[in-house]
Amino acid sequence: MKAVRRGLIVANWKMHKTAQEAADLARAVSALVADSCTFRDVVLCPPFTSLHSVKEVLSDSPIALGAQNLHWESEGAFTGEVSAAMILTSGCRYVILGHSERRQFFGETDEVVRRKLAAALKAGLEPIVCVGETLQQREAGNTNSVVLGQLESALDGIPSDDISRVSLAYEPVWAIGTGRTATAEQAEEVHAVLRKWLRYERDEEVAEATRIQYGGSVKPDNAAELFAQENVDGGLIGGASLDADSFAAIVNAGIDP
Ligand code: PEP
Repeated sequence: MKAVRRGLIVANWKMHKTAQEAADLARAVSALVADSCTFRDVVLCPPFTSLHSVKEVLSDSPIALGAQNLHWESEGAFTGEVSAAMILTSGCRYVILGHSERRQFFGETDEVVRRKLAAALKAGLEPIVCVGETLQQREAGNTNSVVLGQLESALDGIPSDDISRVSLAYEPVWAIGTGRTATAEQAEEVHAVLRKWLRYERDEEVAEATRIQYGGSVKPDNAAELFAQENVDGGLIGGASLDADSFAAIVNAGIDP
C-alpha cells in the first residue's frame, strides 16, 4: 500500500442482511478491524434498511458508513428512491456509484452515473465511482477505452477540487462474484491507465491523490498481492465482506504489525 495515499477498504454488502443481521456483522467486523483503521480507511455499505442499525453499532468506531446508491434529484415524486441528503443524514460518509450490477440490471448509463456523482458531491458525500469492462470487451482489446470512457463521462463537469472527495473502483465485470480475480498485473495495468488519464486530463495533484480500489473476487489469499501494486489503493469487497473473519483478513492484508 502506498505511503502517499491512505488505503481504502470498502465492504459492499449488496442486498444481504436484515437490520439485525447487519448490526451483528458490523459488531463482529468492528471488533476485528478497528485497530487497522490507523493504517487504512474502512467502510461498511449495508442496504439502506440497515443503515440505522449499523450506524448505532459504529457510533464509537473509526469504521465509516456508506450507501450503495442514491438518486440524483434532491427530492420529489421518485417512488422507491433515496436522495444524497437522505443518506448523508442517515450517517453515511461514502456512497458507491455506478456499480456494474446497477449498470447491468437497472440500466444505469454513464450519464446517470455522472448525475449521481454531481448530486453526491453537492451533498457533501465521498463517492466511490465504479468502472469496469465485460469479458467480451476485454477479449476484444477494449478494456482501456471502456474504463476511460466511463471515467471521462462520470467526471465531466466535476471541478478538480471536488475530485479530492472521489475515489475510483476498478471492477472488471468478469471478476465480480465469479471467483475469477484479475491478476495483480492486470489490475495494476488498468489502475495505471486510470491514473495516467487523471494526470493528463486533470493534473498531477489529482492523479496522485485519487484512490483507486480494485474490486472483483478479492479474498484473504489474494488481497496482499493486489494491494501491494503501485496504483492499487485498496479494495471494494463483495462476497468476502459478508464474513467478518474474511473481511478482517482482507483489511489487514499486507499491513506489517
Ligand atoms: C462488488 O460487489 O463490488 C464485488 C467486487 O463483489 P465480489 O467481491 O463478490 O466479487
